[in-house]
Amino acid sequence: MSDELYGTVTIDEDAIQNALDHSSEDHAHIREVLAKALELKGLNADDVAALMRIQSQELEEELFETARKAKMEIYGRRLVLFAPLYVSNLCANDCTYCAFRSKNKAVKRRALSQEEVAEETRIIINQGHKRILLVAGESYPREGIEYAFKCIDTIYNTKSEWGEVRRINVNLAPLTLDEFQGLKDRRIGTYQLFQETYHRDTYSKVHLSGKKRDFDWRITAMDRAMLAGIDDVGIGVLFGLYDWRFELLALLQHNTHLEERFGVGCHTISVPRIEPAVGSDLSEHPPVPVSDKDFRKLIAILRLTVPYTGIILSTRENPEMRREALALGVSQISAGSRTNPGGYHEESYDMSQFSLGDHRSLDEVVEDIAHLGYIPSFCTGCYRLGRTGKDFMDLAKPGLIKHYCEINALSTFAEFLEHFASPATQEVGNELIDRIIEEQPPTRKERASTVVRKVRAGDRDVYV
Ligand code: SAM
Ligand code: SF4
Repeated sequence: MSDELYGTVTIDEDAIQNALDHSSEDHAHIREVLAKALELKGLNADDVAALMRIQSQELEEELFETARKAKMEIYGRRLVLFAPLYVSNLCANDCTYCAFRSKNKAVKRRALSQEEVAEETRIIINQGHKRILLVAGESYPREGIEYAFKCIDTIYNTKSEWGEVRRINVNLAPLTLDEFQGLKDRRIGTYQLFQETYHRDTYSKVHLSGKKRDFDWRITAMDRAMLAGIDDVGIGVLFGLYDWRFELLALLQHNTHLEERFGVGCHTISVPRIEPAVGSDLSEHPPVPVSDKDFRKLIAILRLTVPYTGIILSTRENPEMRREALALGVSQISAGSRTNPGGYHEESYDMSQFSLGDHRSLDEVVEDIAHLGYIPSFCTGCYRLGRTGKDFMDLAKPGLIKHYCEINALSTFAEFLEHFASPATQEVGNELIDRIIEEQPPTRKERASTVVRKVRAGDRDVYV
């Protein structure tokens, strides 16, 4: 009974293949799609397929320009930051791309004790983070999934002199309906799970043993999460396993399924590319690697297709790609990350899940993005005020949410600068905040400057 799927998600592979078989670049049609995209109401599968056919540099630049405009219109200069916390690398699955795969004897197995989870949390808090993404392999110590629940409690209960974690998102293997209800009771933010590849054949070739071999158990996880009342869910693809264009169209089918069944689609989409991992030959030579050029394209297309859905980029990518991706559509990034259990405390990257492209500290990343004119946001306001799922999208789609987001981004950035930033970051950050307040329309200027003044005077956790 506990293995009941509670749903069916069908990926129509033939329809996707048909759309991809027509490969000619129709300039007039593509320009129509780009004009439609600027209405910020999203695109359908035919539109997406048309954009994927872009070959010429001229149209590619028009695509990027349209994506930059959409990003700016909806998200302005805000950029949400978070840190992953890997609590365990125990895993019963054999995913051929991952260092934590059960067959890999080169990785020492470890599940953090609750004291160690608290220690890692304190270090992350003292970097200045407010949002954690909890990550684990698909096997738990003796207490089973209760272990992950205890970790969540520990993280929320850990306080440091300078702050606390205000939102925990989780990336955990698919759960049963009952287990999802347990997760919901823990007050998590977003439940994230990547299908890895939506192409069934490829899926079975890269997942050799363990529960993860079951494609349907994984693809229906979001249905169970939503039935359990978790209304912010995050989906994703591990790019490099199969044709990125197929994956994008399939991911949209998955999102449409959620919209049709639950009245709201996914809250975020993650776009990891395969990185080299110890004990994984496949990760050194991904079967269908996504070039940098295609990666930019896919981010831009995604931005235009689901304008109000967050796009998440991790430290797998190097700083240069991350900068470009921000302009094209990415709205959340991790920073200062470790992907090995205990990695923050031990200041090491040993036994990581995969190698990272960005090793900079949170302070360095913040300084860089502030120089670029982005406001680093540590905001957790929506989730704490119950603006989640459909309620969030109902505010986001008419463009109302950004009035909250802007103020909260300024408030949390000012709080970061007070306690956690180096003098160089403080200088560029405070200048940026003052400039942005000046640029606010009269109706919002007063509110923005009051909030920032309060934080600079010592108030904490000021949000609207
Ligand atoms: N174990 C759970 C699972 O597989 O769903 C959750 C955590 S898993 C550590 C998180 C994600 O890491 C996977 O979904 C996969 O997409 C990604 N990942 C695994 N190996 C990777 C690699 N070599 N490069 C980049 N991302 C990788
Ligand atoms: Fe285990 Fe997840 Fe890595 Fe697969 S991707 S081996 S399930 S940790």
